[in-house]
Amino acid sequence: MSSPTIGVVVGADRLSAGLVDDGRVVVRDRVATPVREVWRTLAALVERVLAATPENAQRPDRIGVSCSGPIDYRSGAASPAGIPAWNGFALGPRLEELCGLPTQIDSSAGAVLNAQLDNDRGAAAQAAESGMLLVLLDAGVDGATVVGGRRLRGHHGNAGAIGHVTVDPDGLACPCGARGCLYPYVSAPALEAEINRPLQRATPATIERAGIMFGRAISDLAAMVDVGRVAVGGGVTTTFGSGFLDAARRELAARAPSAGTEVVPFDPAVPSIVAAAAVADTAE
Ligand SMILES: [Zn+2]
Repeated sequence: MSSPTIGVVVGADRLSAGLVDDGRVVVRDRVATPVREVWRTLAALVERVLAATPENAQRPDRIGVSCSGPIDYRSGAASPAGIPAWNGFALGPRLEELCGLPTQIDSSAGAVLNAQLDNDRGAAAQAAESGMLLVLLDAGVDGATVVGGRRLRGHHGNAGAIGHVTVDPDGLACPCGARGCLYPYVSAPALEAEINRPLQRATPATIERAGIMFGRAISDLAAMVDVGRVAVGGGVTTTFGSGFLDAARRELAARAPSAGTEVVPFDPAVPSIVAAAAVADTAE
């Protein structure tokens, strides 16, 4: 049996940390992501989790981090699109220094994809055979890809992160500085700022547009890396439902008619802190 691990989840909307032992969360804590002092807030959170570890429990010996991208999985640097205060922030090294434990970092979607494949042999077999892109549409927009049974990491660990694929050259402004990225059409904060109401009250036209833009982005990716399946989850996907998925499938069929890529909704089977902790075991 492996020893306990600290799992840290950094999102644009919240920071979570927990102690994970044998796939179970033993201690857990979370806070809303502040605009400033993000590191100080995260460090205090991780220290609280360490302090709450039961006296008789084995001490954790490593840290796994799932962070809203872009990330650099080798250096542990993070530049989350939704956390402007962090641009190349040395998240991995700072956590190592804080806790004195080896730390490994992955993108939000990468952590979920790895956990999903570990947890579900059927999905793993399918991914090995036909390739899969997993996309999370939430406070952030993130994706990760497995091709030929192997995770496609890319230079920094962001391969398949489709948030800033151009879907409309004259489209909406994106916080990254470009115009017409996928992000403003399918991320919760950008959509809510645009429609000035909660996602649950988005009009069918907004939902259909989100699906069309998502379909465009994945048709480009399907053309480039030839994946058989796109699994899409996260709060935006769940809230928008079949109107969103159907529009995405129609757009994908129109733009990549011969790709044969299927679009399926998915619910992460593994809690995000457990998925983050498992990142600690993926060092290459
Ligand atoms: Zn962008």
